[in-house]
Amino acid sequence: MLDLAIIGGGPAGLTAGLYSTRGGLKNVVMYEKGLPGGQITQSSEVENYPGIEKVLTGMELMEPWPKQCMRYGLKHEMVEVERVVKDGEVFKIVRNDGKIDEALSVIVCTGSTPKKAGFEGEEEFFGRGVSTCATCDGFFYKDKEVAVLGGGDTALEEALYLANICSKVYLIHRRDRFRAAPSTVERVKKNSKIELILNHTVKKVYGSQMGLEGVILTDKEGNERDLKVPGIFVFVGMDVNNEVLKQEDGKFLCSVNENGQVIVDLRMRTDIKGLFAAGDIRIEAPRQVVCAAADGATAALEAISYVEHLKG
Ligand code: FAD
Ligand code: NAP
Repeated sequence: MLDLAIIGGGPAGLTAGLYSTRGGLKNVVMYEKGLPGGQITQSSEVENYPGIEKVLTGMELMEPWPKQCMRYGLKHEMVEVERVVKDGEVFKIVRNDGKIDEALSVIVCTGSTPKKAGFEGEEEFFGRGVSTCATCDGFFYKDKEVAVLGGGDTALEEALYLANICSKVYLIHRRDRFRAAPSTVERVKKNSKIELILNHTVKKVYGSQMGLEGVILTDKEGNERDLKVPGIFVFVGMDVNNEVLKQEDGKFLCSVNENGQVIVDLRMRTDIKGLFAAGDIRIEAPRQVVCAAADGATAALEAISYVEHLKG
């Protein structure tokens, strides 16, 4: 019987591993389907992790994290978890290799995945001009022109953020009505650095080994427009990786909101006793490494008290 099962080995899961093992829990396993590190390992430059002055790749930033946790006894199972179910006081961790483990508590840290828009070159130039994180990559386009794709709150808020850094922001949306809050739409319309390009979609992006050079747009009549920008930020929604919480009847083990994000309180507790969620998967996640790590620590401290109380 595990004291704690941690699902996902990104910044939230690894920090939960560090705090729970140093805090005295025995038999803590972190399940990670790939190499530990999480989605930040896709980033070529991270410059906003506090205390790390040097600009590192995401891989470099995350490289010491697993070693630090393992030193205190965290075990890593390189396997995908299919589902977490609760049977009385005990959680069952259903793995995709056919095995089932048992745990007294669980922290779900499976993160999120930005949705792809589906245009030509999106994969090829991802991280080299195509980005899904303005806070992370906006600074690389200081005083340059960039494009933003999407018409929701994220796209409009991030366009406003980028307008403070970049010389111009082209906001491309496939309709002429926005999903974003009316007050945000007003702020965007009043911002002289943002040019709206409505009723257009991105057909493709192009460039060279050096990176992105431009974006080809099309309107509803099929007319094309060539935007010569070195960067495009794609904000067409996020998928939270919440599949592990889906039960055989299709319902979720704990409450999630309309976007599938796990509802937690300030101590990362879900509405199921002993089940916690941390990082990008939770409601109102700021989607930053430092925030995911802080969530992992909070959830671990809470899991320690829960397990100690359960064991009496
Ligand atoms: P994730 O990092 O998404 O980790 C979740 C982990 O769970 C993954 O490793 C995944 O393989 C694993 N997993 C998922 N499902 C299962 C399963 N069923 N079984 C087992 N394992 C599973 N943030 C910053 O602060 N600064 C930056 O500069 C920055 N740049 C970014 C650049 C890019 C290109 C991207 C994509 C994101 C960037 N971010 C940045 C955001 C940051 O990466 C995330 O906010 C952070 O990684 C979230 O951490 P997490 O632990 O919640 O989830
Ligand atoms: P979203 O609301 O789902 O918006 C996604 C946008 O991308 C939509 O405008 C959509 O167009 C567009 N889109 C989707 N697929 C596309 C494609 N393939 N090509 C081009 N455009 C595409 O996502 P979000 O903006 O990330 O927001 C997610 C949730 O978080 C929402 O509930 C939002 O309100 C919330 N949020 C809130 C705040 C806040 O309260 N301050 C901030 C950020 C996010 P259509 O409009 O035509 O469908």
